[in-house]
Amino acid sequence: MRSRIAGRNFLFVPGPTNVPDRVQRAMMVAMEDHRSSKFPELSTSVLNDLKNIFKTTTGQVFIFPSSGTGAWEAALTNTLSPGDKILAARFGQFSHLWIDMAQRLGYEVEVLDVEWGEGVPLDRYEEILRADKLQQIKGVLACHNETATGVTSDIAGVRRALDAADHPALLFVDAVSSLASIDFRMDEWQVDLAVSGSQKGLMLPAGLGILGVSHKAMGAIAGAKSRRCYFDLAAMIQANATGYFPYTPALPMLYGLRESLNIIFEEGLEAIFFRHHYLAEGVRAAVIRGWGLKLCATEPKWYSDTVSAIVVPEGSNAAHVIDVAFRRYNLALGAGLARVAGKVFRIGHLGDLNELMLMGAIAGAEMAMLDVGIKVTPGSGVAAAAEYWRSHDPIPRKKVSQEEQFYASHSTGSIQG
Ligand SMILES: *Cc1c(COP(=O)(O)O)cnc(C)c1O
Repeated sequence: MRSRIAGRNFLFVPGPTNVPDRVQRAMMVAMEDHRSSKFPELSTSVLNDLKNIFKTTTGQVFIFPSSGTGAWEAALTNTLSPGDKILAARFGQFSHLWIDMAQRLGYEVEVLDVEWGEGVPLDRYEEILRADKLQQIKGVLACHNETATGVTSDIAGVRRALDAADHPALLFVDAVSSLASIDFRMDEWQVDLAVSGSQKGLMLPAGLGILGVSHKAMGAIAGAKSRRCYFDLAAMIQANATGYFPYTPALPMLYGLRESLNIIFEEGLEAIFFRHHYLAEGVRAAVIRGWGLKLCATEPKWYSDTVSAIVVPEGSNAAHVIDVAFRRYNLALGAGLARVAGKVFRIGHLGDLNELMLMGAIAGAEMAMLDVGIKVTPGSGVAAAAEYWRSHDPIPRKKVSQEEQFYASHSTGSIQG
């Protein structure tokens, strides 16, 4: 074992993601009084701007000093009562953990077990909601992006299922590994509780639980009888109204969030979604066309643009690939969780990253696979990704042609001049 590995660590777990230098610098601040007359400037600006990230104008966004798991709990306990019925599907470790939490909090969860590699089963949701004539189901859970398996579900489809059944249940969505990376439309899809965290698409360290709450869900808070204390939204609403928090906020995280929002608005949300798809397609080209391996996601309609779970061949252990990648090449790949432990390794491709950073992850994963005896063709993953990226636009075409138009007209002008 080398005493020190020089160079930077390649962090390719699907959260925490790489924190941009600008955000790191923004967080290097002296502590200050969070009850000062100046503090609301910062808090109201981040709370308001987060609404753009969730794509909501009618809802409200809340920030808790917790990880995403805290926002899961805040969503459930502020809008439901003990014994309330919830409909949920389980197809990976994160959808499982939210269900487990709901059960431990005393809700009655109707769990649909789905193959790991698929997403929310829309037909079954609609069928169950239609059959619930007494409207006993109070909440419908959906994990937008199942980070354990690299599966993205159709949240607009879940809304359609609810509407088709004319069902009033609240729609709870886990958007922790999709927000600010994959298109998420809180108002358009009428998502009532949208859960997220700071360490994925928002490019911050872990430490903030972020929760979008619809107008309808705000109306459910007073009647919700679940016990809550630290995560009580009533206290938060009251304090936030004047730009304060009911307890000490995580100040450097808020400064970091301010800077990460600036970075996001500079690039533009739609350009960010486009970039994530483009980068993900390159990774998928490496996995499928280059290495000849399979993704855990069983069909293209489930493919996630933020994380790929790669299935290693029968008889080999994905944990060995991850271990060699880390110890020998200073590359952190995501582990297979629970049911897929040893069967998959994951490449996170979300947040502040580009083609050549991903080339490091692809090359490192390839070397580690070869080192543990997995027969992939050396260079095949890198070659397939390169071919994809070289032949596709990294930004939406419309913008490219606008630039081209600009340069075209500019050069014509200079010739005439
Ligand atoms: C990361 C993640 C969470 C939250 O995890 P925390 O460690 O509590 O931030 C929840 N759901 C999904 C889908 C995730 O990827």
